[in-house]
Amino acid sequence: MGSDDIGDRPTRSTRRTFLSASAAATAATAATVAVPALAAPATADAPPAGPGRATRAQRPDRELRDLLRQVDPRRIEAIVRRLAAFGTRHTLSSQDDPQRGIGAARDWIFARLQEYAATSGGRMTVELQSYIQEPASRIPTATRITNVVATLRGQTSPNRTYVVTGHYDSRVTDVMDAVSDAPGADDDASGVAVVLELARLMASRPTAATIVFAAVAAEEQGLYGSAYLAQQLKAAGADVQGMFSDDIVGSSTADDGTRDPYAVRLFAEGVPTAETPAEASTRQSVGGENDSSSRQLARFVRDVAENDSTGMRVRVIYRRDRYLRGSDHISFLREGWPAARFTEPNEDFAHQHQDVRVQDGQQFGDLPEFCDFGYIARVARVNAAALWSLAQAPGTPKAAIIVTTDLTNNTTLRWQRGDEPDLAGYEVVWRETTAAEWQRVIGVGDVTEVSIDLSKDNVFFGIRAVSRDGLRSPVAFPRPGS
Ligand SMILES: [Zn+2]
Repeated sequence: MGSDDIGDRPTRSTRRTFLSASAAATAATAATVAVPALAAPATADAPPAGPGRATRAQRPDRELRDLLRQVDPRRIEAIVRRLAAFGTRHTLSSQDDPQRGIGAARDWIFARLQEYAATSGGRMTVELQSYIQEPASRIPTATRITNVVATLRGQTSPNRTYVVTGHYDSRVTDVMDAVSDAPGADDDASGVAVVLELARLMASRPTAATIVFAAVAAEEQGLYGSAYLAQQLKAAGADVQGMFSDDIVGSSTADDGTRDPYAVRLFAEGVPTAETPAEASTRQSVGGENDSSSRQLARFVRDVAENDSTGMRVRVIYRRDRYLRGSDHISFLREGWPAARFTEPNEDFAHQHQDVRVQDGQQFGDLPEFCDFGYIARVARVNAAALWSLAQAPGTPKAAIIVTTDLTNNTTLRWQRGDEPDLAGYEVVWRETTAAEWQRVIGVGDVTEVSIDLSKDNVFFGIRAVSRDGLRSPVAFPRPGS
C-alpha cells in the first residue's frame, strides 16, 4: 500500500503505522480523518465467493523432485569457466580456431550435447543448425550463424514442443569488437550452462512432449540465431506451446551490493507481439491484455516452480523485457508462440557488455568470478520444474471459446479435446478481472463444453487440461465465439 492511500483507510492499525512514520503528517491526518469507514478492499489473496475451490500450487511429484536434486552446481561452474576460457565467443570471431573464438565454443557445446544424447536411447538428437546471414545491422560481412540444438523427442505427443535457450555468443563494450577478450560468463554462459545441465538430466528420462535444448548464436548482434531456430520450427510444423530464454542468470548481486539469491525474474509480455488486428479489436472490446499465452505460461511457471524443491521465488514481471534490452524469447513471440525470459533479480552493469579492465581500482568485465554457481543451479531447477511439468502434462486446450451467441447471465465454454493417452479431463479457472492470478478452479470432468452459473461480463475464465496423475496444462484463455 502506498502512503497516498492512508487517508482513505481509517483503520486503527493503518493509522498507527502512519502516525509513527511522521509526526508532522500526524497532526494533519488527525485533523482530517473524519472520513466514513469503508469496506475492506478485496485483495488477490482472498478468493471471491463463487463456484469452485481456491486454486493451489501444483506440488512436484517424486520423479521431478529426484530430477531437481540432481542439478549440479559444480558441473554448471565447470561449463561457465570453460566457455569463458574460449577468450571471446563474439559472433564475428574465428569459426575454425580450435582454441579461441565462437567456433571452438560451438564445437565444445556440440560435443557435450552428443555425450548426453548417448544416454537417451536414441530419443535425443543433436545438430549444428546453421545458415549464412547476409550483411545486416551489426553483421558487416556475410557470416555463418550456427545454433547447437538438442531435441528430446516426446513419446506420446512428439509434435508438441517446448524450447529452452541460452545464447553462447558474447560481447564487450563495442558490439562490433570481435577480437578483445569477451568472457561472457553471466551473459550468457550462465544460460548455456542451464540449458546443458537440463539436457544432461532429461536425456535419460522419457517425456510425453518434445523438449528442444538450444545454445543459440548472434543474440548480441540482433537475435539472429533464435530467429532462425524459431523459423525452422515453424517450417517443420512444430506446435510450440512454450519457450524460455535464460539470459543473464549468473548472479543475484546488484551493483550496490544488494543480494537476492532466492529469486529469479520472469519477463512475460501482455499484449502479444504478434497480435493480429482482429485480435486487437477483440481485446479492445472485452479485455484480455493480461491474458496473453505468455502470461498464462508465466503463471504456470509460478504454479509449478515456486516451492521448497527449487528454493526459489519466481518474480513475474509484466513486460516483454527490461528497458533498452531484449532477448531470444522475442524471436518466438514474433512467431506467435508463448515465450518468456528468465533473468537475475538485480544486475551489475559493470559485469555486462564491458571491456575487461581495471578502472579506478574497480574490475570491469563479465568474468566467472562474479557468478554465483549455486544461484545458477537454482535457476536451472526453476527451468527444470517448468519444462518437466509442461512436457509431462497434457497440452494447453485448443480452440477454447467463450460462447457469445446470446445475452445471458451465465457462461458457456467450449474447447477441443486433446488426444493425450493419459488425459483425465478439464478444469475451468476464473478470477476477478482485477486479480493477477487465477483464484478459483472448477473440475468439470472429461467434457468439451460446460456452463457455469457466473456472468462472463464480471470475471475472467480459463480452461486447463489435467492428466490422470493430476498434472495440469497451462491455461487457455478463451476467445469469444459461437
Ligand atoms: Zn544476453
